[in-house]
Amino acid sequence: MDQTPHIAILPSPEMGHLIPLVEFAKLLILQHNFSVTIILPTDRPLSIAQNTFLDSLPKGINQILLPPVNFDNLSDDVKVETRIFLTVTRSLPSLRDAFKSLIASKKLTALVVDLFGTDAFDVAKEFNVSPYIFFPSTATSLSFAFYLPKLHEMVSCEYRDFPEPIQIPGSIPIFGRDLLDVVQDRKNDAYKLLLHHSRRYALAEGIIVNSFKDLEPGPIKVLHEMKEPSIYPVGPLIQRDLTKQIDEPDEECFKWLDDQPSDSVLYISFGSGGTLSHNQLIELALGLEMSEQRFLWVVRSPNDGTANATFCSVQSQSDPLAYMPKGFLKRIEGRGFLVPSWAPQVKILNHGSTGGFLTHCGWNSTLESVVQGVPLIAWPLYAEQKMNAIMLAEELKVALRLKFDDENNGLIGRVEIANVVKGLIEGEEGKRVRTRMKKLKDAAVKVLSEDGSSTKALALVAHKWRSKICA
Ligand code: UDP
Repeated sequence: MDQTPHIAILPSPEMGHLIPLVEFAKLLILQHNFSVTIILPTDRPLSIAQNTFLDSLPKGINQILLPPVNFDNLSDDVKVETRIFLTVTRSLPSLRDAFKSLIASKKLTALVVDLFGTDAFDVAKEFNVSPYIFFPSTATSLSFAFYLPKLHEMVSCEYRDFPEPIQIPGSIPIFGRDLLDVVQDRKNDAYKLLLHHSRRYALAEGIIVNSFKDLEPGPIKVLHEMKEPSIYPVGPLIQRDLTKQIDEPDEECFKWLDDQPSDSVLYISFGSGGTLSHNQLIELALGLEMSEQRFLWVVRSPNDGTANATFCSVQSQSDPLAYMPKGFLKRIEGRGFLVPSWAPQVKILNHGSTGGFLTHCGWNSTLESVVQGVPLIAWPLYAEQKMNAIMLAEELKVALRLKFDDENNGLIGRVEIANVVKGLIEGEEGKRVRTRMKKLKDAAVKVLSEDGSSTKALALVAHKWRSKICA
């Protein structure tokens, strides 16, 4: 039997979860000599981005792709969160088989799931393997998850109708309408499943969270004060292997970036799943044009009303450039660069010409920007992104916010976009935001240094796992 301590990691398959969990696996291998198997539950064939990403993993990471679960009995309008929760739950029989073969040849110590995977703890227990969570979102959301069962008892109406702001332990007060999407309809199955998982978080022996104290001091303090489970803030953990970015069709975009002045380009991306309505897409295009700033935009085809339309597939179904305003591509030639569907984001943020990031505030995108010290424009779309936007704009003040125009069908108008973009790249407020982001960047470097708090937290959890083998 192989004596190297072994960890099984069960991410849900969307890129936003896969990426940080794989980074975590790499650290365990490189810094702590563990071996790791990624066990991936699926509900459909993998997308090109997922396949390319998995193909590029280093040798030390084994992979087991579980067979797709059957969703024939799910209605088409089921929420994406429900699909993700059920993908894990319905994969438990095949997870059990995977465990049987792993246990036969490896010193399997811990199972690490993400925020959707606590049902897999039952399988871990059967095999005497320690259950852990890697929480790829904010410490604020984690604090909210622990608070949710209590809030559920205290509040009987929809949270968005509750007149007072909600006091998540350790966080600034947040109105119910700004909480994560999945709690916006308490009758929906997705909410019930979240509640179910929130109650099970306490079953974990430890929770590893992708954050650090300078970013979220309040929630991290509160989480540390809980007796159990132990909390390990190990962030910011981002994709670091820049030579192996997913799908690099666009050496062209780097040639273009190389020719731009430093800190002058606004990068625009809405994560792996974000899409805009066609009207909003047009406002954004015209706003960027009016701003007279340089920009690099990852464009997706417009959606039909759901903001996370490509969450599970990433690729646009049709040519996104076909939806641009008439004559737009010609008019922005030289000043704007469009990349369809997917771009090597970390590498773009790392480029000296990139001076701002208009983001949907997904947590990976946020951390990637923090690590590079790139200031933000917050345009939250789904999941917990409104909470992130509030934290980034109002608490940390490293982001500018865009206002929706109630008189224009709730869209963000082109003039607002132009002003805010100009303000970030050229204005005084932009300078202040940039300076604060650079400070956060320095703090991130510090927590990841040899005796930094995140390095120590990772060492602590690794030590716990290793000592379990020796016991
Ligand atoms: N990403 C990328 N290129 C793209 C869009 C996204 O590399 O064109 C990566 C991005 O760097 C991040 C992840 O996909 O690591 C998106 O995660 P995030 O948490 O920001 O958003 P989500 O996709 O989960 O909404």
